[in-house]
Amino acid sequence: MLSSHTFMKSRAIFLAGDAALDFLNTRMRVNQELVDCLQSDDDVLAWLREAGFPVPVRDIKVKPLSLLRSARKLRESTRVLVEMRKAGRRGDPQILNNYLAAGENYSQLVWSTAHSLKIDVVWRQDTSDSILAPVAKAAGELLAFADFELIKRCEDESCVFWFSDQTKSHNRRWCSIQRCGNRHKVAAYRKRRREKSTLHS
Ligand SMILES: [Zn+2]
Repeated sequence: MLSSHTFMKSRAIFLAGDAALDFLNTRMRVNQELVDCLQSDDDVLAWLREAGFPVPVRDIKVKPLSLLRSARKLRESTRVLVEMRKAGRRGDPQILNNYLAAGENYSQLVWSTAHSLKIDVVWRQDTSDSILAPVAKAAGELLAFADFELIKRCEDESCVFWFSDQTKSHNRRWCSIQRCGNRHKVAAYRKRRREKSTLHS
């Protein structure tokens, strides 16, 4: 289980509007420090669960910390690919592809209610990389299909959050108003006031 300490200190935030970008955002800036919300295998499992990805139903039989290492490696190689794609450059998808290759799934027909059936996709989850394969798939789909005009990094220079701008006007600038937008509004207001007072003095 997650220790409450880790939980309080660096809880993952879901504000990107895209699961792969939320995954990147598990590394965040808190009071000028870069903080990693993923500090243990349990943190990775908790994040997967919270993000709606499949998690192994039984205890996983992987070496301690291998899931954490695997998650961080996928996350940082995805970050490079997203940054390069945003800059209009070609990144090397080899690492991401290794995770995709580790992913195996099959369909199962299951009862969803007493009278209706549905198809569930079940992932094989016996290695760290295969547990992360659905996240790699989300990242691959983002890189292949998203309109990168709308994939943005928060305009606050110290903020490292990415998001998908799903506003109608396509003018979202901040990860969130509370975290970054308000601070800039206050700063801009102060600047205007300063300029006004110099003007009148
Ligand atoms: Zn921000």
